[in-house]
Amino acid sequence: SAPLLSVKDLRVVFSVGGTLSRLRGHVTAIEGVAGVSFDIAKGETFALVGESGSGKTTLARTLNGLQKVASGSIHFDGKDATSMGRAEMKELRRRAPMMFQDPVGSLSPRLDVRALLAEPFRIHGMSDRDLDAEVRRLLTLVGLPVDFASRYPHQLSGGQARRVGVARAVALDPQLIIADEPTAGLDVSVQGEVLNLLNDLRDRLGLSMLIITHNLHVVRQIADRTAVMYLGRFVEMGETEAIFRSPAHPYTAALLSANPEPDPDRVHDRIKLPPEVPSVMARPSGCEFHTRCPFAQDLCRRNAPPLRVNGGHQLTCHFPMNTPAQAGLEQAQ
Ligand code: SF4
Repeated sequence: SAPLLSVKDLRVVFSVGGTLSRLRGHVTAIEGVAGVSFDIAKGETFALVGESGSGKTTLARTLNGLQKVASGSIHFDGKDATSMGRAEMKELRRRAPMMFQDPVGSLSPRLDVRALLAEPFRIHGMSDRDLDAEVRRLLTLVGLPVDFASRYPHQLSGGQARRVGVARAVALDPQLIIADEPTAGLDVSVQGEVLNLLNDLRDRLGLSMLIITHNLHVVRQIADRTAVMYLGRFVEMGETEAIFRSPAHPYTAALLSANPEPDPDRVHDRIKLPPEVPSVMARPSGCEFHTRCPFAQDLCRRNAPPLRVNGGHQLTCHFPMNTPAQAGLEQAQ
């Protein structure tokens, strides 16, 4: 069936008018997202993984109409989101709401939980519904007692605040939830509870999800497919399980080895990356990862690697790691 979300060769460009630009006498355009393509199917959870500055949050904000598209296309449920007017974009945000990180800070401190949960209905002109009944329905859906309606954000734990955030996101029968670091700032056990809740709601409500995170354990627990981002591009994309078992891109392997798994079968060779992430304002030549890659060779510094595709697995690297996922990867064109 047709994907719920389809993104093709998306580019997002920022104009930078800082000191650097003034010295040069013109405004510099930098690419925050530099040609990204992916689909999300109905009922699927897709994860975007990368360090801060990789462009993953910019990409998510662009899907919600919060950043301007420079080129490429975004189709949501068959409709072109790049040419939507205000009313259509508002409807898109109802059907594909974004959950922002920081559980407590993203909730207005002056509103109680009842008001916080009623807010989406007010914003979308649905205040005529029985809001008390909706608030009770939503609290029950996310596993909170109904008397939490009278609490204020400072009276909630991080996990409870996150549940309220989830309740707000699912209030208006969405089709896709975009969750930016859904477990940030939570203890590991509470992280697991929030991920279980998201998995459960996905199944019960038939949702699709886009999860943005730097935390690979989150990805493993929740995502069907994963894309690894570096400087605004996907360097590897595939089934989450295949990526975890046998990462083919050195950057993916480095991210995995920085978060070792307790399971000895899954131990990856430790790859330590130099900490300096290059700026998108001064992209390295050839393979943009070459300044940090332990396997870089002259070819990598000279030429950008081709996109290799094997079924649903994609990769851009001249010298994929010698792993099963890499076997049979063919060079596209
Ligand atoms: Fe490393 Fe070269 Fe592959 Fe880039 S193309 S990731 S520098 S081995």
